[in-house]
Amino acid sequence: MEKKIRVAVAGAKGRMGREVVKMLGQDPSLEFVAGIDSKLTGVDVGEVLGGKPLGVPMVDSLEEALLAFKPDVVVDFTTPSQVYQNMLLCLKHGVRPVVGTTGLSPEEIEEIKQICVDNELGAIIAPNFAIGAILLMKFASMAAKYMPHVEIIELHHDQKLDAPSGTAIKTAEMIATARNDIQQGHPDEKEILDGARGADYNGFRIHSVRLPGMVAHQEVLFGAIGQTLSIRHDSINRESFMPGVQMAIKAVVSLQTLVYGLEHLID
Ligand code: NAP
Repeated sequence: MEKKIRVAVAGAKGRMGREVVKMLGQDPSLEFVAGIDSKLTGVDVGEVLGGKPLGVPMVDSLEEALLAFKPDVVVDFTTPSQVYQNMLLCLKHGVRPVVGTTGLSPEEIEEIKQICVDNELGAIIAPNFAIGAILLMKFASMAAKYMPHVEIIELHHDQKLDAPSGTAIKTAEMIATARNDIQQGHPDEKEILDGARGADYNGFRIHSVRLPGMVAHQEVLFGAIGQTLSIRHDSINRESFMPGVQMAIKAVVSLQTLVYGLEHLID
């Protein structure tokens, strides 16, 4: 039998972390070895999540978990303020991170890429693990070549800490590489209320909506003479991200570089 991939989960008691723990329990090729979350050292992860004991402890320090449980992979769904330090720590210990936490700056991503190359270690950062969202990004970049007038609207639950979403930024980057630079809208337009036109990205706009009841949604709107095109993706629950996380864990163990975006793992 093939050796199981040992996986620790940073942010295991968070909304996404809980789903990852559930997914790991259902995949016989993956072994859940530790959960990392604040102030819970020693407590069984299953009990923390309100279920049966799993025989896997919660640890409040990532470094302790890396030393004690020797995971092959750390899945990180923590917070924008924590994720960069977590990635550095994983790579320092030769452990491959699979990161869904958003909020990393382009400079941090560049630095992590260099550390991966220098140490021949794999890492995956995916602003969105939902396959449908990846397809949306691909379709949007195809459309932007022919319909360069575009705006992005992303909608999330009201507990999200960063705006715009990592997915919206990644979508904007992909659109920008396919679209000829143009400044959209009327050259003399004035915002009567600050922020009314959203954030500017290379001459087009990104709008962030935060409401209870939402999970993660994004619409990309294109306009041209006499026609519009709307491409929309909805994650209606957090399970939608799990097949992508599963795919990334299995891919990262044989990578020796940073992969930024799940689109690089699917044809
Ligand atoms: P959440 O419910 O707030 O969970 C974050 C968890 O991380 C909390 O339990 C928090 O504990 C814990 N945490 C904070 N600092 C930590 C540290 N130093 N070490 C270990 N754990 C720590 O947030 P969420 O909704 O799960 O989202 C997490 C991240 O994933 C966000 O950045 C979100 O935007 C992103 N996300 C990505 C995707 C994707 O597909 N890539 C999908 C959904 C969400 P405390 O509460 O005790 O601080």
